[in-house]
Amino acid sequence: MSLLASTKLRFSHAASVALHHYADWRIGATSLEKHCYKTSDSVLLTFDDYGSQSEVSEILQVLAEQQVKAMFFLQGDWAALHPELVHSIAAAGHVVGNHTVTHPVLLGLSPEVIKQEISQGLPGLWFRPPQGRYNAAIRELARGLGYAICYWTIDSRDWAGTSVVEMRHTILQELKPGAVILFHLHGAHTRELLPTIIADIRKDGLELTPSTESWQLPPAYL
Ligand SMILES: [Zn+2]
Repeated sequence: MSLLASTKLRFSHAASVALHHYADWRIGATSLEKHCYKTSDSVLLTFDDYGSQSEVSEILQVLAEQQVKAMFFLQGDWAALHPELVHSIAAAGHVVGNHTVTHPVLLGLSPEVIKQEISQGLPGLWFRPPQGRYNAAIRELARGLGYAICYWTIDSRDWAGTSVVEMRHTILQELKPGAVILFHLHGAHTRELLPTIIADIRKDGLELTPSTESWQLPPAYL
């Protein structure tokens, strides 16, 4: 075999190994990641992606009225177009996390592209991979860029247009101390559900995460 051919073969083998490595199905969020490194039993609300001005304002208004602080995992491309909305979220005392720039499914992308998607996204301590799909290699890349993964324990499925009744049912059925609930700023019925579900959670004797409790540096980094 010529040198060129063997080099090509080695290269393509290395490339396919790398691709395979990054394309593995996610290994599953650890318990720390599911609970976003929370150490208390309080419940954490999280809101992902992007929203219109009115969607963002309405959610911020309910959270302010109810004195709840939440985490927002925002897409970098949307944030760049709406700095005033990102500012209003952060100024209200909520925590903004990284959700990549363009929201691609990271599995199967090259390490370079994954790094770019994360490093050019919003700065902070927390990273939530789009669709929650990641593996150990992606976790390590995020960690290398200074981010800890924040997953969730309850998916409201608001992204699928799920009704208020159904979302409430799912959340209350799965609600446990330490829960992290996944919502989206653009969820069709999220704003309608929010005041009710906050009242439900409190009626269950659970606290919603106060402003400073869960977003310190994750223990893994201390
Ligand atoms: Zn998302």
